[in-house]
Amino acid sequence: MKLNEFPQVKGILRENVSLSEKTFLGVGGRAEFLFEPADMDDLVFFLKEIPETIKITPLGSMSNVLIRSGGIDGIVIMLGDWFKNIFVEDNILEVGAAVLCSKVSTFSMDHELGGMEFLMGIPGTIGGAIKMNAGCFGSEIVNILVECEGILSDGNVKWFKKDDIGASYRCTNIPDNCIITRAWFKGIPNVNYSIPKKVKEIIEQRKSSQPIGVRTCGSTFKNPDGFKAWQLIEQAGCRGMKFRGAQVSEKHCNFIINTGNATAEDIEILGEQVAKKVFDKTGVKLEWEVIKLGNSN
Ligand SMILES: Cc1cc2nc3c(=O)[nH]c(=O)nc-3n(C[C@H](O)[C@H](O)[C@H](O)COP(=O)(O)OP(=O)(O)OC[C@H]3O[C@@H](n4cnc5c(N)ncnc54)[C@H](O)[C@@H]3O)c2cc1C
Repeated sequence: MKLNEFPQVKGILRENVSLSEKTFLGVGGRAEFLFEPADMDDLVFFLKEIPETIKITPLGSMSNVLIRSGGIDGIVIMLGDWFKNIFVEDNILEVGAAVLCSKVSTFSMDHELGGMEFLMGIPGTIGGAIKMNAGCFGSEIVNILVECEGILSDGNVKWFKKDDIGASYRCTNIPDNCIITRAWFKGIPNVNYSIPKKVKEIIEQRKSSQPIGVRTCGSTFKNPDGFKAWQLIEQAGCRGMKFRGAQVSEKHCNFIINTGNATAEDIEILGEQVAKKVFDKTGVKLEWEVIKLGNSN
């Protein structure tokens, strides 16, 4: 399809858009089309008008995606300012999917509601965090979720109750072509601990255990049942291992970093080499936590 064959939208629709600078890893190809809807009506209208065969890929802040150099076919959808609202009523937070997790943590702290401190440790948006069932420090997003709203690729709106998202460790059954647009979270009033202290502890722990100011997607692999991925990687002798511009972090060896000139393929190859070494050494199969998208060159 050509750009001028798409329906007229209020938001921004562009063709052949480079994504690499905006991704946390700083690598990756182009979106064939990138749509940033002006608001919900614009998004629904657009999806209802386009042919159902076009592939839809929603993206948040791209803190957990490895986009291959050949780019993403079809339409990438990124939510902008209209989806960045956050309100609270009766201890329930209503949050737009483009709001950063850290902002939700700060907002709930300001309203003296507990249970959302862990969101301070997750760099992505609420949409990405729900899709991934992101979590840290013993909590994950499904624990605080009441329900969320999504738009399917045919433009129909669907609500998912907490139990409908099929959440498990870093995984949900929300379809890949469903764009999460809003969510409701339950805050806990009158907690018997200091929320600001807990948030501060999370920030400190992050600083001490993770590389800061580098290009990375955080944990590359999920923790296999009964194991810590970083320990297996350490055991296999992969700390600091390099492939061209990609390197296993010296500080946290489940993090792969782009040292400056890595390509998506360098990162993927290094990840596969690490997984193979871990398997050869321990017999444990590592599964990628980072979502790999798009085509290889
Ligand atoms: C330094 C660092 C530390 C991290 N630590 C943690 C951690 O402790 N725990 C943890 O769980 N994760 C962690 N992450 C990974 C990442 O921040 C989370 O997975 C985050 O939830 C991804 O959100 P995002 O907006 O960046 O999503 P993206 O990376 O843009 O996308 C991730 C997935 O979600 C989908 N998606 C994005 N937005 C939407 C939407 N609106 N609707 C539907 N699907 C959508 C995408 O299609 C993709 O499949 C870390 C990352 C970094 C860089």
